[in-house]
Amino acid sequence: MESYDVVIIGAGLAGLQCACLLAERSFRVLLVDRKASLDRSIHTTGIFVRRTLEDFSLPEDCLGPAVRHVRLYSPARRRMDLASQHDEFRVGRMGLLYQRYLNRAICAGVEWLPSSKFIDCTKLKIGMAIRLEDRSGARVIRTRYLVGADGANSRVAEALDLDRNHEWIVGVEEVFENVPLAGPPIFHCFLDPGIAPGYLAWAVHDGEQVHIGVGGYAARFDPVKALNQFRASLTDILDLRNAHFIERRGGRIPVGGVLRRIANADGLLVGDAAGAVSPLTAGGLDPCLRLSVFAARVIGEYLETGNPQALAAYSGQLFRSRFVSRLWMRRLIAVVSSPLVLEMGCGLMRLPLLDSFARHVFFGRGSFPDLQPSPAPEPVGFT
Ligand SMILES: Cc1cc2nc3c(=O)[nH]c(=O)nc-3n(C[C@H](O)[C@H](O)[C@H](O)COP(=O)(O)OP(=O)(O)OC[C@H]3O[C@@H](n4cnc5c(N)ncnc54)[C@H](O)[C@@H]3O)c2cc1C
Repeated sequence: MESYDVVIIGAGLAGLQCACLLAERSFRVLLVDRKASLDRSIHTTGIFVRRTLEDFSLPEDCLGPAVRHVRLYSPARRRMDLASQHDEFRVGRMGLLYQRYLNRAICAGVEWLPSSKFIDCTKLKIGMAIRLEDRSGARVIRTRYLVGADGANSRVAEALDLDRNHEWIVGVEEVFENVPLAGPPIFHCFLDPGIAPGYLAWAVHDGEQVHIGVGGYAARFDPVKALNQFRASLTDILDLRNAHFIERRGGRIPVGGVLRRIANADGLLVGDAAGAVSPLTAGGLDPCLRLSVFAARVIGEYLETGNPQALAAYSGQLFRSRFVSRLWMRRLIAVVSSPLVLEMGCGLMRLPLLDSFARHVFFGRGSFPDLQPSPAPEPVGFT
């Protein structure tokens, strides 16, 4: 049976980041994904916030032009403009970015196993036996430690008997090119419970690409119908007549906050699998990078010392305490289903106090609690 120090299930940003860091510490790492190629079935818009852009060295050519302007719309389409002096957002070219992370991982010694699905795992006297399935059938490999980076609906979490996500919103979006932009790159955000119940509809235009999407609680809307309705309502904002359609993306976003039990002696969870998404903004890219840095550190220490105490710091319960206000705000947003109430809320947002709250949500640096010890700046390791 092939044997590894760490097997990582899922080559999204969380799994890729964790794989790179562990291999760079000379562990023998196997990275597994059910996808044949990482530029397929991308589900994220890929908006990176300033805090991530400052703390992580993402390859420049995998990022679109910077966005400094946000326009917030009420249900009646009253506008409120927020502008920053900083480059607040950049939309990742995600297929290319995943590939660059994968190249970095392979250069660091990670073994890459695409087109292979995690089925389950069994505890051995030492380590775990992992059962995978590909087109030619099942295979079993051995590992000292298992990492679940397999997204919002994590099978690894279930197999390891760790906590699982229960609260979601769903998002669907379309990506276009060749859309004229009059003015600076801009992020349009629409608060409208009709097309985005419990979340937002968005249209982000960075001058090269436009992403148009809706998100909300699945039980309260039909995402594809809402997206069609939303796109059709944008004629005053975007000229899509000569737009070139690139792809449709979508998926679940866990918004219940970081799960409590995300590690045990057999394995741990990172990224969406750990619920590491801001419950308020539903941004998960910064949390997944940050949590994976921490996870790699904890796993390294555990495997090097064999001391289970090393895992104690990797507790969702500890992170959750720093999420409390965002979880309450998520609950508040979830129950507001009346356009009138939301309209009033948007009106209040013009008051100085709430205006600074809106600025804090869009331009603040609080998408995920800083982990202790905080992640060191990353070495540039991309090829
Ligand atoms: C429509 C939408 C838009 C979003 N936009 C943004 C945004 O703009 N900014 C932001 O910060 N966040 C955004 N998010 C959230 C963000 O995309 C996620 O939090 C982040 O991508 C999670 O990364 P991950 O690596 O944890 O999981 P994923 O990217 O979901 O990766 C999981 C991987 O595991 C693989 N996998 C799953 N099950 C198995 C299995 N059984 N065996 C083998 N492989 C398996 C999958 O193929 C996948 O490659 C968005 C989410 C959605 C749905």
